[in-house]
Amino acid sequence: TRPKPSFKRVLLKISGEALMGDQGYGLHPPTVQRIAREVQAVHSIGVEVCMVIGGGNIFRGLQGSAQGMERTTADYMGMLATVMNALAMQSALEELDVFTRVISAIRMDEVAEPYIRRRAVRHLEKKRVCIFAAGTGNPYFTTDTAATLRANEMNCEAIFKGTKVDGVYDKDPMKFDDATRYETVSYDDCLAKRLGVMDASAIALARDNNLPIIVFSLDEPGGFRGILAGEGTYTRVQ
Ligand code: UDP
Repeated sequence: TRPKPSFKRVLLKISGEALMGDQGYGLHPPTVQRIAREVQAVHSIGVEVCMVIGGGNIFRGLQGSAQGMERTTADYMGMLATVMNALAMQSALEELDVFTRVISAIRMDEVAEPYIRRRAVRHLEKKRVCIFAAGTGNPYFTTDTAATLRANEMNCEAIFKGTKVDGVYDKDPMKFDDATRYETVSYDDCLAKRLGVMDASAIALARDNNLPIIVFSLDEPGGFRGILAGEGTYTRVQ
């Protein structure tokens, strides 16, 4: 039997691609709105919510550098892509009357607040959803690592990693019928077996701070709230 999760403060990590719907690129507003409703459902039961959104639907540093662009410049472009996604999510959430702040790791004061830890904590206490943008602000990192860093800094009880599948499998469930889902899996197994939950530095940072990662499906309507209420299927990395 697994422990019933009851969380007061969580961080939701989604990839940029989760916002692009069936398009090959960019933002699909109905999809952004659908995810905003998932967040609203959790926020409405009194859970304090942080968010980190990737940028892969717009730009990835590694892709840019593979095409000859200087790596750090390409990474900054990737970080700027996450700011666009954060603003789109802010807009969708505020349309649902959920108050938000976009907090950027790279200063751009006209667009987003700078990251000041104590200020962000205060926003959470006032029930504002904090959307952390621009990753860690450093090249050579990913938004998975940014999510783990911010979740630690904000004292979140867990990272919720919303994906297309309802957990972590021993092999790709899209390709293999006999793939089986783990109820729980250790950080070390994720790393050793390269289970693809998050990148290695993010998993190591979670492990070293005992921060559980809950992998679940964002395609399931009401799924995020369900898991916070102790229902549904997911994998807990611990
Ligand atoms: N990035 C970075 N530092 C960070 C976070 C992100 O340099 O702390 C850059 C990196 O180039 C990355 C891009 O931003 O490829 C988009 O982030 P990510 O690939 O994590 O997005 P996702 O795959 O989650 O959509």
